[in-house]
Amino acid sequence: YMKVRFAPSPTGYFHVGGARTAFYNWMLAKNSSGTFVLRIEDTDSERNKEEWVDGICDALSWLGITWDEGPYRQSQRLHLYLNAANELFENGFAYYCLCSRDEIDARNKEAGSTPGYDGFCRDRGLGTDSGGALRFKVPKPGETRFIDLVRGEVVFDHNHIEDFILVKSSGAPLFVLANVVDDIDMEITHVVRAEEHLPNTPKAILVFQALEKQPPTFGHVPVLVNEKRQKLSKRRDRVAVEDYRRQGIIAPAMLNYLALLGWSPKEDREFMTVSEMVDAFDMANVGHSPSFFDEKKLAHFNGVYIRALDNVEFMELSIPFIEQNPWWTGSKEDLEKFMAVAALAKERVSLLAEVSELIRPIFEEELTFDDGALQKEIKDNPNAPKIFEAVIKALSEADPFEAGTIELAVRSCSSFLDIPLRKLQAPIRVATTGTKVGLPLFETWSTLGKSVVLDRLNAQI
Ligand code: GLU
Repeated sequence: YMKVRFAPSPTGYFHVGGARTAFYNWMLAKNSSGTFVLRIEDTDSERNKEEWVDGICDALSWLGITWDEGPYRQSQRLHLYLNAANELFENGFAYYCLCSRDEIDARNKEAGSTPGYDGFCRDRGLGTDSGGALRFKVPKPGETRFIDLVRGEVVFDHNHIEDFILVKSSGAPLFVLANVVDDIDMEITHVVRAEEHLPNTPKAILVFQALEKQPPTFGHVPVLVNEKRQKLSKRRDRVAVEDYRRQGIIAPAMLNYLALLGWSPKEDREFMTVSEMVDAFDMANVGHSPSFFDEKKLAHFNGVYIRALDNVEFMELSIPFIEQNPWWTGSKEDLEKFMAVAALAKERVSLLAEVSELIRPIFEEELTFDDGALQKEIKDNPNAPKIFEAVIKALSEADPFEAGTIELAVRSCSSFLDIPLRKLQAPIRVATTGTKVGLPLFETWSTLGKSVVLDRLNAQI
């Protein structure tokens, strides 16, 4: 049984790295019949915004990462942290400190020592009424060891850990304190979080011990990097889950892709359902080297997932991406037209945001043209007039107006004019769809109907 938590700080868009951490925790809870807690670490009122909290909850729900408890809000639990701070002070594990950052820096500079708190107030015996910050008294000399689920044994020498602040002089509790107090209160058994928190773990363990509680098991998952092997950053890279959602990445593809960033299932399996992933997931197979977040690979995964959808699911998921087009009314007739080409469209997109462009020619009354294609394939094409003339004539006789009969008609023009099919198709495709690329032409035409196709061809003569 594992009780795990995902504990985001709402300081910005929900990050793909956060989504991966959440998913790993969720899988651990699911495959141990455990509990997944959502806890919003919003003690930093200057950096937190309510809209980011909503964004996190929405994105988790979209991914299907449901929580069994929470969302707890640290901002509503401050008294718990302050009680613990008091206990630590009373029991001699913490002390008040009045040093300003400048004073500390000046002393370190004079002594030629490394930055970090020098312990100036450690033995001054300042009281609660001193108005200072509360610092944890890191036992020195000493060391803290723990077995990390990903990295194995990790050792931190206390000489490299300063007496860290638990509560600011303003009375605001800081991350390590609130994080540990909640992990105790919520009876968390396993903490799986981003590698950037590794240096916080010895501090957390010291606080657990000072509060006479057993620390949970820790596991730190590797950082995500871009193609230049730089750590993914909000400023440089596309990191928001929301951005991928808006491009039309679908949730199961996103989860499958995220799961494999750092985790290698046995036999290097790639495409797995959520329940297969839950069954197979094991922190022992999570590596510690950085993982490349490859947008192209994610899009490829997504394409595979899209092709596996049935046509109705595909349409339902696509509609939010086409709704804003002026040509889409959502009428029964629109849905039927979309249905007629859904199977073909599915094969040709890797992102749902690409669907609009693909099906547009079937819906537009006033066709939009790619000017370059129009110029090259029609205006500058000496064969265009005779192609149009022949195709219009042949099509008039195509009955019923279906892909098969249309193809026969067009092929007959090709041999009659002695123009290869591919060359013959270019101008008639541009005339009837506005572009050079798209859905298979004959199916498109049969969906458009004979009179629309003939009108569009005639318009080019
Ligand atoms: N609030 C921390 C963060 O967003 C989470 C730390 C943890 O999971 O323990 O990075």
